[in-house]
Amino acid sequence: MITLCAFANTADDIKVIKQQDREVIERFKSYLNINTVQPNIDYYPAVDFLKKEAKRIGLESDVVEIVKGRPHVIIKWKGRDPSKKTVMLNSHMDVVPADPAKWNSDPFEAFWDLTNNNIYARGSQDMKCVGMQYLEAITNLKAQNFVPERTVYVTFVPEEEVGGHGGGMNDLVKSPHFDKLNVGFGLDEGLASPDEKFEVYYGERVAMWGIIEATGAVGHGSAFIKNTATEKINRVIQQIFNFRSSQEQELALRPNKRTGDVVSINLTSMKAGHTKDCGETYQMNVVPRTAQVGFDIRVTPHVPIKQVDEQVNKWASEEGVSIRWVQRSEEHHVTDLNDEHVKVFLDSLKSANVTFNTGVFPAATDARFLRAKKIPIIGFSPMNLTPVLLHDHNEYLNVDVYLRGITIYENVIKSITK
Ligand SMILES: [Zn+2]
Repeated sequence: MITLCAFANTADDIKVIKQQDREVIERFKSYLNINTVQPNIDYYPAVDFLKKEAKRIGLESDVVEIVKGRPHVIIKWKGRDPSKKTVMLNSHMDVVPADPAKWNSDPFEAFWDLTNNNIYARGSQDMKCVGMQYLEAITNLKAQNFVPERTVYVTFVPEEEVGGHGGGMNDLVKSPHFDKLNVGFGLDEGLASPDEKFEVYYGERVAMWGIIEATGAVGHGSAFIKNTATEKINRVIQQIFNFRSSQEQELALRPNKRTGDVVSINLTSMKAGHTKDCGETYQMNVVPRTAQVGFDIRVTPHVPIKQVDEQVNKWASEEGVSIRWVQRSEEHHVTDLNDEHVKVFLDSLKSANVTFNTGVFPAATDARFLRAKKIPIIGFSPMNLTPVLLHDHNEYLNVDVYLRGITIYENVIKSITK
């Protein structure tokens, strides 16, 4: 028997929601209610919630801490053949900060707007939805007496939003705990898509963060001094923006290209000015000896990292100009779309009439650590007809989109665990 609950925001707007779906949504809301905002997160309330969820479904769970206070929750659904490589369904527990003043509701209340059937919460798209959808899909499959051939690990990891280091996925993959999982294929986060087609990611751009510093002549602020640091850094900035425009144009001229297909660069810091004793006040009549800019480059796998490296070195080739890298990767790791597991995954989407684009994730996710270990990983968050609001104000997910995502995962899990 199906019980129906009726909700009304206004007399002429009545939503009827099945009791079973309401329970599913309440569980999603409960996870969203747990504050896991970076930095210095107390993860244990989320860990306790997930352990209880595992128990509800009838699955074993394990908590692994490579770094104290940075727990990974690993939920195991035992397959019929433990000798086979396993499937990893990954999501991260942490979320980015939300400014309540810019939101229409408390970001952790998980406000259910019944007029539009949307749930507003930090993490509703990135990516508490995905973690709960995995668990709901398994709940439904177990109710159908489905038993996977391969073992499935549903992993909830910390510290993704701060780069996956300091006890996050970067450290988990290097630990013996990870080797024991024997992962052969995995899913991790993707992005929402505003239209009907879903987004499937087989790779991501690599980040190169650097600082270019110029040193030049100093002197009185009233003189025409030659070779100043600020003149030199100005030439660097111009070259950076010329390059930035060329990439932006390439994106604009080719409608089939997406952000993940080009190289992006942004100036993220600028510093110059003479200060006494490193004070806060600048000496306004002194031409400073140094000037520097910091930048964030994201290199698409379609462009060799070496090529970008040479480009940046050219910008910093003038006398008195130098470059220092804060963080950079030396290699792209992409998942082969012809890999047998990936083909099964894509076929499972097609058989469920899910249309999709395949592409390169524009930013960084934990998938990069797994791809570096040659494990095929696909980035996929089943959110179509949804504006991309990750890290934005009033992040939300529509309830129907969320529920359809669970059905999609049921189909996907049935296929990829064979
Ligand atoms: Zn995320």
